[in-house]
Amino acid sequence: MGLLDRLTRGLTRTAERLAGRFDDIVGRADAPGQETAALDVDTIEALEESLLAADVGLGATTRLVAAVSQRPRTGTGLRAALTDEIRGIFDGVRPPDQKVSSPHVVLVVGVNGTGKTTTVGKLAHRFRQNGQQTLICAADTFRAAAVDQLQVWASRAGVDIVRAGEGADAAAVVFDALSAAKARGVDTVLVDTAGRLHTRVNLMAELDKIRRITAREVPGAPHEVLLVLDATVGQNGLVQAREFAAAAGVTGVVLTKLDGTAKGGIAIAIAHDLGLPILYVGVGEGIDDLLPFDAGAYADALFRPSW
Ligand code: GDP
Repeated sequence: MGLLDRLTRGLTRTAERLAGRFDDIVGRADAPGQETAALDVDTIEALEESLLAADVGLGATTRLVAAVSQRPRTGTGLRAALTDEIRGIFDGVRPPDQKVSSPHVVLVVGVNGTGKTTTVGKLAHRFRQNGQQTLICAADTFRAAAVDQLQVWASRAGVDIVRAGEGADAAAVVFDALSAAKARGVDTVLVDTAGRLHTRVNLMAELDKIRRITAREVPGAPHEVLLVLDATVGQNGLVQAREFAAAAGVTGVVLTKLDGTAKGGIAIAIAHDLGLPILYVGVGEGIDDLLPFDAGAYADALFRPSW
């Protein structure tokens, strides 16, 4: 199956939630005599409700509805106008082009349970398949089980892992991993960071310490800070995201578990409200179930006709 088909399949539940209501809206816009009229109040309200139900969020919903409600349109025109506007939201938050640096250091941050460990494994697999020598650094030293899990993913992906004993200093493990990466000529280092400490202040302080070590050891590092967010959490994830974005200098989001939720509209809210690009989406538990995010395909999949 191609990437676009897999993204479409991952968005099935969200698209179904939208479609149930949206077909009705499109039907109204297509009703005889409507083609010369702006959308009526009931139709606009129905559109708002459908977007909110898919967790698009208030800010982005307001923008989308404002953009499509004034001009007269047919149902097909309405669909096209919405997908264009959604593409516009994602286009506004494109990540800057990466300068090539070696090793390229990627910090992976996020709360436990979001799929962070799985995502690090999937990313390692992906990078390796693209011909990059990749090293995983297990810097979540508070969860021995998570480090073991990460080790399993590293061997599945066929990449090396640098780990330390439970309770070791995370920054020291990062230092060791970066030294090993430089000595071995590694292209990409993926650093799995803690997702929970005794307090949030401790967690953010630890991330800051890891940032400082990487910056000291590798010029320009960390080159990317990826925040892993669980799509099934919907709008509540935005609170987490804001906190990490402020403290950890997040450069992009990996949105996991898109396959298990009807709240896939959250991707639009992340881009609109947080100004962060979505770089990858998780659509399953397997090592290949991580797709590079494609805004056009995403928008088309959301509003694909259900007939
Ligand atoms: P962590 O605590 O953040 O490191 O989370 P894990 O990587 O251990 O993942 C938590 C659970 O979510 C596991 O059961 C994973 O298999 C599952 N998971 C992770 N990503 C995805 C995804 O994209 N889709 C689905 N359906 N499950 C996922």
